[in-house]
Amino acid sequence: MSILKIFDTTLRDGEQTPGVNLNLHEKLEIAKQLEKVGVDIIEAGFAIASPGDFEAVKIVAENIKDSKVASLCRAVEKDIDRAYEAVRNAVSPRIHTFLATSDIHMKYKLRMTEDEVLERSINMVKYAKKYCNDVEFSAEDASRTRVEFLFKVIEEVIKAGATVVNIPDTVGYTTPEEFGKLIRSIKEKVPNSDKIDLSVHCHNDLGLAVANSLAAIINGANQIECTINGLGERAGNAAMEEIIMGLETRKDYYGFTHNIDTKQIYRTSEIVSRYSGIRSQPNKAIVGDNAFAHESGIHQHGVLSEKTTYEIMTPESIGLAKNRMVLGKLSGKHAFEDRLVELGYNLSKDEIALAFDEFKKLADKKKNITDKDIEALIEERASEIEEYIEMESFQINSGNKLISTAVIRVIVKDRVITESATGDGPIDASFNAIERALGINIKLEEYTLRAVTGGKDALGEVFVRVLDRNVENDKIYIGRGISTDVLEASVKAYINAINRMISEKGEDILNI
Ligand SMILES: [Zn+2]
Repeated sequence: MSILKIFDTTLRDGEQTPGVNLNLHEKLEIAKQLEKVGVDIIEAGFAIASPGDFEAVKIVAENIKDSKVASLCRAVEKDIDRAYEAVRNAVSPRIHTFLATSDIHMKYKLRMTEDEVLERSINMVKYAKKYCNDVEFSAEDASRTRVEFLFKVIEEVIKAGATVVNIPDTVGYTTPEEFGKLIRSIKEKVPNSDKIDLSVHCHNDLGLAVANSLAAIINGANQIECTINGLGERAGNAAMEEIIMGLETRKDYYGFTHNIDTKQIYRTSEIVSRYSGIRSQPNKAIVGDNAFAHESGIHQHGVLSEKTTYEIMTPESIGLAKNRMVLGKLSGKHAFEDRLVELGYNLSKDEIALAFDEFKKLADKKKNITDKDIEALIEERASEIEEYIEMESFQINSGNKLISTAVIRVIVKDRVITESATGDGPIDASFNAIERALGINIKLEEYTLRAVTGGKDALGEVFVRVLDRNVENDKIYIGRGISTDVLEASVKAYINAINRMISEKGEDILNI
């Protein structure tokens, strides 16, 4: 069986998902999980895009050992310089450079002729090759490129030294039959195309990203670019978990193997949704909340007597074990530590001590603590940033015939500030009070609340997205908070978002 290489671009294309803004620490945590799940190549970012992107690629490159680490760059010398600078310390660095080859992109975006694009592609692959043996070239908008020209470009970049050539369906335009044919004709007609890794990168604008990727695999592609949960620009990219479980479940048909540890899929998906603030829809294939739920009586009966009647894969195969009721108030530190190890966490003594404190606090409020609760606690800690502002206490009055009022007490560098405000409902009132206490002018773009587990005493997890009102088109900041009390979770999430804003923009945004 041939081995399919998985090129994960959650940290680059996935991070371009509208509303997603991962900080350095979160990117590194995601990268470590991608290494654990077994992806062959991690595209860690677009190094020249900003100093923050550069730093993220560099840190990922320095910390990841088992996966190759790539940075994207335009086919321009200074971009390539920057990309190499970011990945040079990786165990296996890769430079991934791209140039558009379709008529529409060449004419309106690049204002270049075919000859100019061909020449630049060759020269920039050669330029990258001076730094790094592993050079990937992407012909942007390949699926809308004149086929003869595409063949020519591929042939020439291989001659120039490209070790991987990527055929992106940049705008999600192609169909499985058409794309499969294109990949096959590249394999058949382009000289030396068997000497390189042939890659595809499919977008999901017509809902075909996974289907197109699978069609490419059957027809000769051996590297797939994809993201966890299908995150990415617009409608997103091909979802890694769907491609892998497709190959696994239908090994008989595809005959491909891969290096992914499928038992890590669920965990990876959870970490990415938690950090990105984007949850998959419940009916999402593989990782959606309902993907393994059997609702109808006939189905339930079938699955109970023989699983395979309605189940083509098991929840265990993606690491979705039945939610175990594990610990409670009386559980000791040892039991807690053991569970952390079983869940795959590798924490320092101090981190364990902190997590155990949180666990005890939670156990006072919630009778049975499950794996999901523990994961929510740990991952809240893991992504924590410096707390300029701490919530000291809050008091909220609300009712159906009452104007909601909130009193908030926050600590900002040893200073205690108390403020009150009214609002449309308790959450609005508390957010207004926080804004007033900090003299900050922000806009709440989105608010979501979900229960981490079932039951009345479940942990509530709140995500907020906020914008700085003072700056046009400003970046969005995500905040997260968890608590058994949803108002507390909301207040924590709002303060968390403000702390993230401060860690990037400095404390000048406060007016206190
Ligand atoms: Zn893309």
